Amino acid sequence: MGKLKYRNKLADMPSYDVVEREWDIKVNANESGMNLPPLLEERVLSRLSRVAYNRYPNEELELLMEGISRNFGLGVENVLIGNGSSEIIEKLFYCFGGRGRKIVFPQPSFSMYHIYAKAAEAEAVPVDLSQEDYSLDIKKFVSVVNDSNAALCVICNPNNPTGNVCSLEDIEYIASHTSCAFLVDEAYIEFHGRSAVGLLKKYPNLMIARTFSKAYGLAACRCGYMLASSAITAMVAKSFMPYHMNTLTLVTADTVFQMRDEFVPRIQMAIAERRRMESLYSELTGFKVFPSNTNFVFLRYSEAPELNDYLVERGIGIRSFGKAPLLENCLRISMGNREENDIVYKAVKTFVLR
Ligand SMILES: *Cc1c(COP(=O)(O)O)cnc(C)c1O
Repeated sequence: MGKLKYRNKLADMPSYDVVEREWDIKVNANESGMNLPPLLEERVLSRLSRVAYNRYPNEELELLMEGISRNFGLGVENVLIGNGSSEIIEKLFYCFGGRGRKIVFPQPSFSMYHIYAKAAEAEAVPVDLSQEDYSLDIKKFVSVVNDSNAALCVICNPNNPTGNVCSLEDIEYIASHTSCAFLVDEAYIEFHGRSAVGLLKKYPNLMIARTFSKAYGLAACRCGYMLASSAITAMVAKSFMPYHMNTLTLVTADTVFQMRDEFVPRIQMAIAERRRMESLYSELTGFKVFPSNTNFVFLRYSEAPELNDYLVERGIGIRSFGKAPLLENCLRISMGNREENDIVYKAVKTFVLR
């Protein structure tokens, strides 16, 4: 048998390992610990019962785009919907990528940026965050973007996995000192509250990615969106398949967006829990807790890999980063409900005091 002619370099692509097991407590992916509020589930089911399953999606996409654009005081032409913000980010990398193109982003940040850059045959140009507190040196970032003649630069704000933020002044500084496309990935913005959306009108190269997967607990549906100038959304839209969003996701996301106020108490609870857990973890000997503005706690501990193994054995899934650059001995723990957070903490404390 001859060798199959897979695309060049495909074999070298890392596979996203989703070897998930059945965790007793799953706090490894920054998901919401709670399923849809019952009232919302009822609305979703009722709308789904009226879906024309035999038809390609039609007005459902418009509805969601209208709802989102109205909320931000933008036009529907400023909104692009994707299967998770992942799809949008991947398409952006594709649209600004290609051979010889450079894409600049901080490191450590969302691990998929590296992979999307590779898939787009672009060159990833990571800018190291400070080892001390994971802050981004804005001037350094801007000069790397400009010196490398980058096609796209990306920041994640608040940053995953380090939990810290860039101020709006810093974001504006980047936008006003660069001339390439500039994406702010706001996957965790609901836990922070200071969105860069207000800068869109002033900086036409700015793009903002949002997701329903985290604060709105809709990871199962795969839905996210981008806000940007109509010129950018029109170009990026060309990279999508026809009818790329399915009606079930659109209807569910639209219902959640309409009723997003229902999530405010949950978001506040996740923030309160994060604060509570941050102070508990920082009392443990050898733990350095980095202040987070998200729904997860980020910390460093000299025996992190051993602690992670210990938790895995007890059915608790947190995120450990292995040998990833600047993340040695770092752990990320998403906030579950109060009881879950206490169980995780107790297990961690038992390990530390063993
Ligand atoms: C979770 C996450 C996303 C993507 O989430 P989707 O489920 O694809 O919408 C994007 N960026 C960051 C930083 C994330 O943590």
